[in-house]
Amino acid sequence: MTEDNKNDFRDDCCKNLVYVSEDIVNTGIGVVIDVQNVYKYFGQLKVLNGISCAIKKGEKVAVIGPSGSGKSTLLRCMNLLEEPTYGEVWLDASIMTPVDPYLHKSILVKSNTYKRLMIEEIKSMLGKGEKDKLKYDDAIRLVDGDTLENLSDKVLKQIKAGDRLKKREGIEFVKAVKAYKDRYGVNINKARQRVGMVFQHFNLFNNLTILQNMILSPVQLKLKSKEDATDKALKLLERIGLLDKKDEYPSKLSGGQKQRVAIARALVMDPEVMLFDEPTSALDPEMVGEVLSLIKDLADEGMTMVIVTHEMGFAKEVANRVLFLDGGNIVEENTPEELFNSPKNERLKDFLSKVL
Ligand code: ADP
Ligand code: MG
Repeated sequence: MTEDNKNDFRDDCCKNLVYVSEDIVNTGIGVVIDVQNVYKYFGQLKVLNGISCAIKKGEKVAVIGPSGSGKSTLLRCMNLLEEPTYGEVWLDASIMTPVDPYLHKSILVKSNTYKRLMIEEIKSMLGKGEKDKLKYDDAIRLVDGDTLENLSDKVLKQIKAGDRLKKREGIEFVKAVKAYKDRYGVNINKARQRVGMVFQHFNLFNNLTILQNMILSPVQLKLKSKEDATDKALKLLERIGLLDKKDEYPSKLSGGQKQRVAIARALVMDPEVMLFDEPTSALDPEMVGEVLSLIKDLADEGMTMVIVTHEMGFAKEVANRVLFLDGGNIVEENTPEELFNSPKNERLKDFLSKVL
């Protein structure tokens, strides 16, 4: 990453002055996936630019936006197929990403950079010279509480705005990060299993039968016994009316059938939330209906879901909330009625005029 875009980022971050609330973890308020100030850069390309959104239990969130706006990347960050460059993604009360120290005041204040800058501030306030040696613990005793708080805010802003943290920030900092991770961290494979994902191009293994495709992950990851996985897979195949295809290979299925299998495959894992990335955009028009109707059934049963879609009618019908992404930001979000009928943002108006 170049210095330039680092600075852009921190300016932006500083404007929001975002912190994750320290002890209010999301259990109890019903948030399943919490995306906190996520940035994703691919080299020079800034694909996500500080996205925050919380997906509540039972919510159906549609994500719309022009091609290249970062929709797939956002979804991939939600189940850690991509690791954000900055920011955090939480699943219930667990942090799935590495800890982003910039989001935690309690961690930032343990850094050597913070302590060094605080000492400088205090020294200059007290008119002490460069040469006056002062330890952090002694320095902060020389000023009163309010002053200390003001200086601290100033220094924290500087650190965030300038992306000032270094590789080595001292043992206390390392310990604080580790304590956070120990408290809220989670086995990533276990976490990922709770987030089902369905792709545009099905991603079935062509050399495996339908049934083998469905039980592969849960059995390989030792999340389910082969018997349990098979049992569940057969029930799901029956539900989607494809039980008779269990021993066929994907090439024998139509696109619509493949996508229904891909959805069922994700459901074998008993996910808490389902992410759909344009699940119908690779399908022939006559097959779109069967896939949307399966997704709608899941929605009606209370499944929490995030759907990237170009099917605006479907988004209107199924979603409780629609996010409009442009240039890696959530530019507008609202209920489908409001967002589609009275869009506020010019880019959204323009987008809707092309797709509706
Ligand atoms: P959308 O789904 O809204 O069309 P994407 O999230 O797929 O947008 O992509 C946003 C931008 O990020 C695009 O310019 C795309 O080329 C780029 N991009 C996505 N994934 C990668 C990657 N792994 N490496 C480099 N660039 C990527
Ligand atoms: Mg995409």
